[in-house]
Amino acid sequence: PATLGMLGGGQLGRFFVLAAHEMGYQVWVLDPDPASPAGKAADRHLCVPYDDYASLDLLAAECAAVTTEFENVPAATLEYLAKFIPVRPNAEAVAICQNRVAEKMFLRNHGIPHAAFMPVNSVADLREAGSELFPGILKVARFGYDGKGQARVASREEAIAAFQGFNNEACVLEQMLSLDYEVSVVLARDEHGACRSFPVAENAHAGGILDVSIAPARSSVCQLDSAQEIAERIAAELGYIGTMAVEFFVSRGALYVNEMAPRPHNSGHYTVDACVTSQYEQQVRALCGLPLGDARAHSAAVMVNLLGDIWYDPSQPGPDSHGAYREPDWSRLLSVPNLKLHLYGKHHARPGRKMGHFTVVDADPARALEVALAARAAIGIRDQA
Ligand code: ATP
Ligand code: MG
Ligand code: MG
Repeated sequence: PATLGMLGGGQLGRFFVLAAHEMGYQVWVLDPDPASPAGKAADRHLCVPYDDYASLDLLAAECAAVTTEFENVPAATLEYLAKFIPVRPNAEAVAICQNRVAEKMFLRNHGIPHAAFMPVNSVADLREAGSELFPGILKVARFGYDGKGQARVASREEAIAAFQGFNNEACVLEQMLSLDYEVSVVLARDEHGACRSFPVAENAHAGGILDVSIAPARSSVCQLDSAQEIAERIAAELGYIGTMAVEFFVSRGALYVNEMAPRPHNSGHYTVDACVTSQYEQQVRALCGLPLGDARAHSAAVMVNLLGDIWYDPSQPGPDSHGAYREPDWSRLLSVPNLKLHLYGKHHARPGRKMGHFTVVDADPARALEVALAARAAIGIRDQA
């Protein structure tokens, strides 16, 4: 059987491995972490840095094509592999998505709606920033995720202090929008340019991390259609092949693109349980030059992330401030009809670490949400103030 290469070893990569195995492929994963979930599920784990060229040569020799699940794989690694085998998505698309300045400039240059912003390289830039950017959010250009590397700034002075706090690293300053809610479009695009968008998901965050996704999103049909249209236009302009996601803000009823992810997305986990073809199977299909599957959902779905916090009981003393360590009581979830539990096999739980998720499927979207929220409470996930 053909062997596929995966750069990155997190849970998104692990789901790719499972989807590829179902279709008869072998997968080699390259990730420097010996405990990476995808590495453990793979047929071979190359446990080396992304710039280990001897291993890249081996990957190129053994694999029919290579993809990624981690947006910070160096673009140079993708470019190098592309000399020998198909690399999907392409290095340039990934490079745009992994740098907020390049990403926002791409949106601006293509006339795609986004929050007002400016690139920030110095304190002097901030002194000249337009007043419409305050209050705003200062975000480091590279390596931010789950709300890390961001500061909410009410004024120019706060922005300057935050920029210095980020060691004068390149940033973008973005206008703070008042959010009605957030949505995302996960889509797959094949080598011929055919595009299949999954139903739009509505996303609620807690502490900067995705908490709950509801699909379909509770927006007007017209707004759902235009989110999909915008996402498909972005994929086409990037020459994208594979599965990608576009995150949107809805502010005063209008759509603004927040960011793109050059990989499957947390808000698309629901496609595993609710859609004819999952986002991961689409990634396999696009990578291998096969026809894309039907992205239709056969039921509504609500996904809840399981973070490491619930592995601890804060009321009992433990070795540190998290409290006593204990495995959550999964029977509280497994006894719920229409609920699918996914655990990623990570050995160490840390507060805020994505350890698993569950999906509730139901023909009735309101009932799916009600059941999911009750299950979320039953497993000990507290609402944030
Ligand atoms: P991810 O884990 O999705 O990659 P991230 O660290 O890249 O997150 P963003 O998606 O840019 O960060 O922002 C995280 C969250 O912060 C958003 O989902 C939104 O809730 C809020 N946020 C970010 N930018 C803005 C803005 N301009 N106006 C209002 N809220 C914002
Ligand atoms: Mg991001
Ligand atoms: Mg985001």
